[in-house]
Amino acid sequence: MSGAGSFPETLTEQAKALAARQFSSVELTQHYLDRIKRLDPQVNSFISVCPELAFAQALAADTARARGEAGPLSGLPYANKDIFCTTGIKTTCASRMLANWRAPYDATVVRNLAQAGMVMLGKTNMDEFAMGSSNENSWFGPVRNPWDLERVPGGSSGGSAAAVAARLAPVATGTDTGGSIRQPAALCGITGLKPTYGRVSRWGMIAFASSLDQGGPMGLSAEDLAMLMNVMAGSDPRDSTSVQRPPEDFTSQLALPLSGLRIGLPREFNDGNLSAPIAASVAEAAATLEQLGAALVDVSLPHAGMAIPAYYVVASAEASSNLSRYDGVRFGHRCEAPKDLADLYSRSRAEGFGAEVQRRILVGTYVLSAGYYEAWYRKAQQVRRLIQSDYARAFENVDVLLGPTTPSTAFRLGENADDPLTMYLSDIYTTGVNLAGLPGLSMPGRAVGNLPVGLQLIGNYFGEQRLLQIAHQYQKQTGWHLARPAFAEL
Ligand code: GLN
Repeated sequence: MSGAGSFPETLTEQAKALAARQFSSVELTQHYLDRIKRLDPQVNSFISVCPELAFAQALAADTARARGEAGPLSGLPYANKDIFCTTGIKTTCASRMLANWRAPYDATVVRNLAQAGMVMLGKTNMDEFAMGSSNENSWFGPVRNPWDLERVPGGSSGGSAAAVAARLAPVATGTDTGGSIRQPAALCGITGLKPTYGRVSRWGMIAFASSLDQGGPMGLSAEDLAMLMNVMAGSDPRDSTSVQRPPEDFTSQLALPLSGLRIGLPREFNDGNLSAPIAASVAEAAATLEQLGAALVDVSLPHAGMAIPAYYVVASAEASSNLSRYDGVRFGHRCEAPKDLADLYSRSRAEGFGAEVQRRILVGTYVLSAGYYEAWYRKAQQVRRLIQSDYARAFENVDVLLGPTTPSTAFRLGENADDPLTMYLSDIYTTGVNLAGLPGLSMPGRAVGNLPVGLQLIGNYFGEQRLLQIAHQYQKQTGWHLARPAFAEL
């Protein structure tokens, strides 16, 4: 129960309560909008809040229910990362470049959630253009971690993670290019799923690095994510990289026992970067899963140490190309009184993009330049293939992999802000998964003091149901996912 009221907190329980007419969607929506108004000034997890749309959607859901036309997600609220285009409500990507932009269409994910009857509460804060691991790179200011307001929530989906942890929304959307769903989920003590590349449509999701970007659900439990996946996933004729597969019910295998499953523990994840208490949480989780019937297997991912350099070359290269559209003419912020066209381009882009985005554009342009392409971009693509092969070999012997999500718990605001290389290391265990296109899930394990720890499960292609099943069984057994920050009591 939330501090302020008598509403259950998980999406699964809310769905049951709505179906049993214990309260209406309008009441549930009011509850969250009140909390956002009262508490979000301390967290800064929302860039826009949209009460008018939310109440209209809630009322429509209540009406549909009264007519006997409600679906499983009708009337349930969610928070939407401000990278998914929404008509009517501005879509900023946390950039000055798009600070007042209104999209002419809804992203496929947004449309799917609306069609399922869900209620959008607002758009969440993030790192600018999804570049970052701390949510300090937002034009709209940093997000604070509800577990300790002096610490970062992780990034780039930090607003989504903080909103769920603070109980300002039951679930949220996120996107993950190199860890941006899993890393903030880990640092905020919630559960997040980065699906297989191509599982969730990227149409209307502002592009950072198109061969890596993937949208996915964030929430309080694996069960909640499974419900959300049922409407987020699916092939989309508007996204040529979305995979054509028959629809799945992502909740259908949650209850299956773990006996007979083989869980690999990648040796290379136990490296010098991993803090000892997080290593202990991972070991404890492995022992719990073993008790639940799984077999533990030592595995090796020999090229894991190359994931960060390969990722930052590939992601920056794609970003430099994707972000060329923000030229102050076709898209984005335009400077005052340009002298000529070159001045218009350069000043609009210098004013519109923050420091980290500019750094990525410079790196990306460099690695794609004639003379450097072979040495950097091509080499990174070759390393990408080696990383992919490491995972393929591992999955010949095991069903999933278990390891840490991040090397440390949430760090202090400002602590790594002037040190991009240390910041990039936050994603040392997550970027390889994007380079290989695999699904990955982060869920809370044993905390370190007051700070959450993320456990990462990595699956084979289209193995989301397996990840959700293991996470659900672990959550039933341990209850770590139910730990709540004191902030949630407010
Ligand atoms: N932190 C990584 C980066 O800054 C990953 C970001 C993401 O997944 N969007 O690029």
